[in-house]
Amino acid sequence: MTNTLLFRLDPAAPDAALIERAAAVLHDGGLVAFPTETVYGLGANATDAAAVSRIFAAKGRPASDPVIVHLYDLAQLEQVAANVPALAYDLARRFWPGPLTLVLRRAAVIPPNVSAGMDTVAVRMPNHPIPLALFSAAALPVAAPSANRFARPSATTAAHVLEDLGGRIDVVLDGGPAPIGLESTILDLTKPVPEVLRPGGIPLETLRELMPDVRLISRQLQPDEAGIEAPGMLLKHYSPHAEVLLFTRDTATVIACMQAAAQQRAEAGQRVGILTLDAEAAYFEHLPALLFRLGTDLPQFATNLFRGMRELDRQAADVILVHMVEPTGLGIAINDRLLRAAEGRIMEC
Ligand code: AMP
Ligand code: MG
Repeated sequence: MTNTLLFRLDPAAPDAALIERAAAVLHDGGLVAFPTETVYGLGANATDAAAVSRIFAAKGRPASDPVIVHLYDLAQLEQVAANVPALAYDLARRFWPGPLTLVLRRAAVIPPNVSAGMDTVAVRMPNHPIPLALFSAAALPVAAPSANRFARPSATTAAHVLEDLGGRIDVVLDGGPAPIGLESTILDLTKPVPEVLRPGGIPLETLRELMPDVRLISRQLQPDEAGIEAPGMLLKHYSPHAEVLLFTRDTATVIACMQAAAQQRAEAGQRVGILTLDAEAAYFEHLPALLFRLGTDLPQFATNLFRGMRELDRQAADVILVHMVEPTGLGIAINDRLLRAAEGRIMEC
């Protein structure tokens, strides 16, 4: 067990002395968790293979699941990646700092274990003052997956990080809740045609404006196929302890179906949880179920989704019911996370 230090920081003006202490931990090969605009990340010096291997150990993450390298300055791109195409610079100038990850050829300074042995590297610059200050103080590229135990819902607060990784990492920088709440969009530029490997914070429609031919790869791999492409594609991922049941059809049908399922499960002795948009909460209030309100629109749904799953877990829900959202904009990324949390199960209505 490690004594995990918690530093509270104001995102608007992160305390320079605390940032320096955290940067020194990165230099010494330690692990520092930090907020980003997407979810909390668990960082290590991306040029130090031993430090990177500690990320995998702390998370219980298989070595076949590659990690994203985080930058604070566009000039670092040519250090961590090789043969960077002009398109990468165009995209970086437009979307960085922000929730777009680019898969490029890996440069030799990045050890193979960052990328699960592949000759590519995934890179992004987070849009959050705390990691930008940290990386700049350390003057390092920082390898960082989401700061949760492997396959659990991503951490969107410092409390979630401590719940999963307290005693296993050196420092947690608490900068409040992560504003977007879902991971970055991953775009592979090493393919003949750019491929979205994971939908995320930057909507597909926005990328299509720039790259009309971009493709969404929506494969959901079984564990024995892992390591082939992007193991974030594993079918089971982002999972709460409770079983997740998804519903999709016209709204009236879905609501009737969810009400019936909640009744049935409760009668069978299960503790039922429901994650719902505020607008639909009234349909479920009379049911024997724990309600978690996600907010009024898709951005709020995204921000609160992982928090809701963890909260219903904390309340010992056996089963969590969710109405899937319209598959446009952020809705594509939301449905992707819901499907993986539910291991692909959609209820028949
Ligand atoms: P996390 O930050 O925990 O969401 O995990 C990072 C995810 O990024 C991995 O699970 C992969 O899906 C993806 N990834 C990282 N590096 C690469 C790479 N070199 N090629 C393809 N996908 C990658
Ligand atoms: Mg993750």
